[in-house]
Amino acid sequence: MKRNVNINEISDGKLYGLNDMVKAGCDGCRDCSACCQGMGKTVVLDPIDIYRLTSNLACTFEQLLSDKVELNVVDGIVLPNLKMDGSSEKCRFLNEEGRCSIHSFRPGICRLFPLGRIYEDGSFKYFLQVNECSKKNKTKVKVKNWIDTPDIKEYEKFVTDWHYMLKSLESVLEVSDEAVARQISMYVLSEFYMEPYNDSLPIYAQLDEKIKKALHTICFVGQKS
Ligand code: SF4
Ligand code: SF4
Repeated sequence: MKRNVNINEISDGKLYGLNDMVKAGCDGCRDCSACCQGMGKTVVLDPIDIYRLTSNLACTFEQLLSDKVELNVVDGIVLPNLKMDGSSEKCRFLNEEGRCSIHSFRPGICRLFPLGRIYEDGSFKYFLQVNECSKKNKTKVKVKNWIDTPDIKEYEKFVTDWHYMLKSLESVLEVSDEAVARQISMYVLSEFYMEPYNDSLPIYAQLDEKIKKALHTICFVGQKS
């Protein structure tokens, strides 16, 4: 999701890599669930998020869409995001005790917060959003440990490829009509989110193939539009 903000106004002015220490530790979010509420449509879910949710909850993407997840347009493309619910706009995975009921397979943005990603030159770095988590006396923690994601290098490669694939799609959308825009959104939803993955093959290899295929298809659509 593109944000038109000056990074120096929302961060501590530093960029971080996986092995850097960042002041994000918040005592296990004790007595706080502020960032699991009122987040609007901002917790956008990538295909690996949906893969983990459907695998661990033994459900389909369509079933998630019935109550926990919704679709919205992000920079011209229809993508899923966590649904915030009720008057206090709580995430549907927040339990009665104010804890995440899917902590071990929570989405990437939840793992990241209050860090963000800034993309540049075909890659990305992390930054600390200094106005987003109000917990006092934060401690230093290694970025890699904070994100706490298995196969982190493969994950980072996927995150980068996914970001730049969406950027390529956006550039096609800029010169396309509504019919092509709908076609592209349907392609992304069905290819990356609805079609089941093969559990006996590595997930990142499958995603890599799909991204390559999508980029090829996008070039074709772009030439025609
Ligand atoms: S606002 Fe900070 S302390 Fe509260 S739940 Fe989010 S990350 Fe944890
Ligand atoms: S999935 Fe878990 S961590 Fe993420 S917003 Fe919902 S309750 Fe919070």
